[in-house]
Amino acid sequence: EKVDLIKLIEETSTMMEKTYHRQIQVNLDVPSTKLFVLGEEKKLQQVLVILLDNAIKYSKDNILLHLGIDGENVFFTIKDHGIGIPAEQLDKVFDRFYRVDSVRSRKTGGTGLGLAIAKTIVDSHLGEIDVESEEDVGTTFIVSLPKHH
Ligand code: ATP
Repeated sequence: EKVDLIKLIEETSTMMEKTYHRQIQVNLDVPSTKLFVLGEEKKLQQVLVILLDNAIKYSKDNILLHLGIDGENVFFTIKDHGIGIPAEQLDKVFDRFYRVDSVRSRKTGGTGLGLAIAKTIVDSHLGEIDVESEEDVGTTFIVSLPKHH
């Protein structure tokens, strides 16, 4: 299935903004109005929802969603200015049932499955998912997928 990532990002961020009454600043740094990847639309939407849901849960300010192209890959980043993730736990956040152990995440609730599911979906689309974070500064998740011609 050919999935238009621009349309999917716009629809999903609008839906999340309306549901949670939070602002998501979308920045489309792409040369055209359509940008396709091969895959399952519903699953790629689930990745966006998981990452946006976390950004909303673990931050208070606006969220930035950037879409760009890097050679043969399409990538999007979801950036928040929230509580961040301690450096020593960064590599574990994609593990099943892992939750950063502190009062903060117990307060928000969750199963610790979201990011493991997101990684499984991105892997099955031959893409990559990465995270950069600094405690008390914020977190950025980066997803890249092969561009469809
Ligand atoms: P759920 O499965 O309901 O999403 P969850 O948020 O606990 O629950 P994951 O989405 O897998 O589970 O995230 C794992 C852990 O990574 C979280 O518990 C949280 O501690 C940390 N985390 C994820 N995203 C962020 C973020 N944007 N800012 C800070 N911490 C985050």
